[in-house]
Amino acid sequence: MKSVDVFLAERHRMVEGQISRRGLHDPRLLAAFEEVPRHLFVPVESRAAAYNDTPLAIGFGQTISQPYIVALMTSLMELQGDERVLEVGTGSGYQAAILARLAGEVHTVEILPELAAPAALLLQELHCDNVHVHEGDGSIGWPEAAPYVGIIVTAASPAVPQPLLTQLADGGRLVVPVESRAGYQLLMLLRLGGGEITEQVVASVCFVPLRGAYGWGRGR
Ligand code: SAH
Repeated sequence: MKSVDVFLAERHRMVEGQISRRGLHDPRLLAAFEEVPRHLFVPVESRAAAYNDTPLAIGFGQTISQPYIVALMTSLMELQGDERVLEVGTGSGYQAAILARLAGEVHTVEILPELAAPAALLLQELHCDNVHVHEGDGSIGWPEAAPYVGIIVTAASPAVPQPLLTQLADGGRLVVPVESRAGYQLLMLLRLGGGEITEQVVASVCFVPLRGAYGWGRGR
């Protein structure tokens, strides 16, 4: 087992070599990645690889995203610190722990109870008290706490889930990977301003499928 110091050093290398070097320099964003112990969000047998430049399996066919992709998606939300935000696809809880440091209140929805429960426990242990983990189909959003200034979807959908747009505050941002019929995925940034939605393609990405009513349904 590696010591805490080794993980600290690896984390610093991750921030410099994977995030900062690729052009993300916001000090608050980088500080969040320096602080969150990513190795606790991966299975014990993968801890040595926790700070590698790759996604990792977290069980049940799901993955924790590559650190840079978590950073890129987070940066697109341009958080100032007091916003209420929604994440769809809690998975390990890592993205939620990052958001906890950059936003005021985080709601995160996970469809698999086997992942929602341990993620909630870990986030509690790490004192991420502004994170609320909900079990359910996040493709319909989480209307109870809407509207959100930022919404981030960490699974790929066949189209932008419409309920998420209705839960966006004016001036809000939605970051979502959308899969084309040809099978490739594009990370989209949608902005709501004065009742109008503007769309921007940000990057080519690779995510697990979004299930549920506004995702791929039960299959896939
Ligand atoms: N953000 C996660 C990565 C998640 S992988 C992290 O930081 O670790 C995508 C997750 O989305 C998986 O856990 C999957 O079970 C979940 N998911 C898929 N469809 C969903 C849906 N409709 N609602 C909520 N979660 C969903």
